[in-house]
Amino acid sequence: MAEELFRVGLRIDVDTFRGTGVGVPNLLRVLAEHRVQGTFFFSVGPDNMGRHIWRLFRPEFLRKMWRTKAPNLYGWNILLRGALWPGPLIGKELSHVIKATACEGHEIGLHAWDHYRWQTHIESMTGELIHRQLVQGFEAIRECTGTSPICSAAPSWRITEQALLEKAKLPFRYNSDCRGRSVFYPVVKGIILPQPQIPSTLPTYDEVVGRDGVTQENYNRYLISLMRPDSLNVLTIHAEVEGISCLGLFRAFLQEFQIREGCLVPLGELLPPSDQIGRAVIGRQRVEGREGWVSVQQVNAEVRGTLETEGFKSVVEKSGGGRP
Ligand SMILES: [Zn+2]
Repeated sequence: MAEELFRVGLRIDVDTFRGTGVGVPNLLRVLAEHRVQGTFFFSVGPDNMGRHIWRLFRPEFLRKMWRTKAPNLYGWNILLRGALWPGPLIGKELSHVIKATACEGHEIGLHAWDHYRWQTHIESMTGELIHRQLVQGFEAIRECTGTSPICSAAPSWRITEQALLEKAKLPFRYNSDCRGRSVFYPVVKGIILPQPQIPSTLPTYDEVVGRDGVTQENYNRYLISLMRPDSLNVLTIHAEVEGISCLGLFRAFLQEFQIREGCLVPLGELLPPSDQIGRAVIGRQRVEGREGWVSVQQVNAEVRGTLETEGFKSVVEKSGGGRP
């Protein structure tokens, strides 16, 4: 009977100290009320998200802040954290929250050691540095919960070939590093990597509210209208947004979705048997309502063989190659 339900993967990104300390406990309560489990991706190192403050001087960012009323959405203390003083180590000070999340039966994944650093500098980071960020994050989560995180999700959907190769060295069952349409094995330099990608398929709250007639009032209906019962659906929410300023809105979404016989599940439950998983390269695109680039599954790249977007080059040398 459970198979008959309309299943949507629930990915919860936790970026900051406040999101972990306030947003996650709020979400745990609301999810328990609705008997829903999802996958939490934690940032566990220093909270330096306040360094974003310097981006305020860029007009594109300022427009987005104005449109989404970001200071209300995140709180000034999040926007300023790390800008003027060193950020606290989230996993150390709030380990009880991460442990409680695991005890509630949610799937636990690594988002980042230093979210800000990854999202702003991933392109220039060496393999060694990426490896260190991943291992530090991996170990910190293991210290909090007593078990290893089973998956990871790159901050801001920004992944590089080097970062994919570094992730493949860690025992993740799957990763969720990009936007896309189906579960796939990423192909890097002609090599099919063994960790499947479960991409996010739906836009986030801050990407759509305030544009094209989408408002706080009709957002939940709009979001549900984008879901497709016959294909992969992965919704990403943020502990800082749906767990704090939009908690009421998210609770209303859970009610509405359950009335429509929808079922939110941890991402791992969406993994098909490995012989049914296709392959794709990951490219880059701009996404409406989001600053800069994000990584995107290139659905037709295997056919084309070579892909070049925004100076980023991926070559599939053996597009007809075997499975891992
Ligand atoms: Zn994030």
